[in-house]
Amino acid sequence: MIATGLAALDGVLDAGKLRVARRLLLSGAQPTPDALRARGASPSREQLAGLASIEPLATRVAGVVVAGDGARRLVIALADGQRIETVLMGDGGVCLSTQVGCAVGCRFCASGIGGLVRNLTVEELLEQVVHARRLEPALKRVVYMGIGEPTHNLDAVLEAASILMADGDVHERSQTLSTVGSLRALARLREASVRPSLALSVHAARDDLRWTLLPHAAREPIAELVAAAEDHAASTGREVQYATALLGGVNDGDDHADALVSLLDGKRGYVNVIPWNAVAELPFARPSRERAIAFAARLRAGGLFATLRWSAGLTADAACGQLRRGRGASPQRRSSSERSEMGTTRGSSTLTPS
Ligand code: SF4
Repeated sequence: MIATGLAALDGVLDAGKLRVARRLLLSGAQPTPDALRARGASPSREQLAGLASIEPLATRVAGVVVAGDGARRLVIALADGQRIETVLMGDGGVCLSTQVGCAVGCRFCASGIGGLVRNLTVEELLEQVVHARRLEPALKRVVYMGIGEPTHNLDAVLEAASILMADGDVHERSQTLSTVGSLRALARLREASVRPSLALSVHAARDDLRWTLLPHAAREPIAELVAAAEDHAASTGREVQYATALLGGVNDGDDHADALVSLLDGKRGYVNVIPWNAVAELPFARPSRERAIAFAARLRAGGLFATLRWSAGLTADAACGQLRRGRGASPQRRSSSERSEMGTTRGSSTLTPS
């Protein structure tokens, strides 16, 4: 039987050669005997036999959906038959899933429908980067913003982040963890040996509305979460991305913009406004383009640095979390009329933030 996965290499190669093999894989290359030899890590006869019995990846790309702006959504099939999504954002960044499903259950997110299935392993996190690098070798940024809540799988995420920093040429400052936040998780991040940049999903500055939209997020005041995010910004020297999914008639009014301004006034960060993309099963409306522009403008008028991400034509079945649920996962390339970005750009993502 063929052993699969990054972990299988562990049983075959000693630590030095294992690291060379891992570096090769994370660059998108194959850790063939020739490639190892070329890097001064010649395998012994016994190790060659071991390598021959290994398939270094346990996951595979089951489909690719291409959006009009060049973003590519990969449907990744896991060894147990589960599926996740990994998105090549077209700007040198890749968005990783961290769980199969999600326990937070944000009312506007397809990924939360059906709840959490399981956490991804470190290897499954890293293999997403391997698949991405095979399509885009120049990849230089990683965001943990796909399916799942990264802080619910924090040990694995931080270990993967550490390996990517050491062997994948992605510095911690070029990795962004997107979270709905909890004081406990943010405290753990503060103490971690690797500290990705932080994106905090606000969605509403009013706690009652936020807790309604994010029913299983920690019931902690958003002001306290923002204060903890500020600590992260102060200790890393990196700004926090505050994200809000904009839902028509729910949180897109001037009063909500003003509440965000009050909440984030003077903070070391910027706001990423992401008009919600329609998901058939969910009872929300996408805000009009004019309303979204006005919302972002009001944030800017209030003194915040705000970006607006407008993807006009994502088909419903290509929206966040839909592909793994079996819709739109056809292996052929498919284009949508997605168009992105009005206003300024700065480190934003195409995805529904966690
Ligand atoms: S938006 Fe993020 S945290 Fe919320 S349900 Fe979806 S994947 Fe989970």
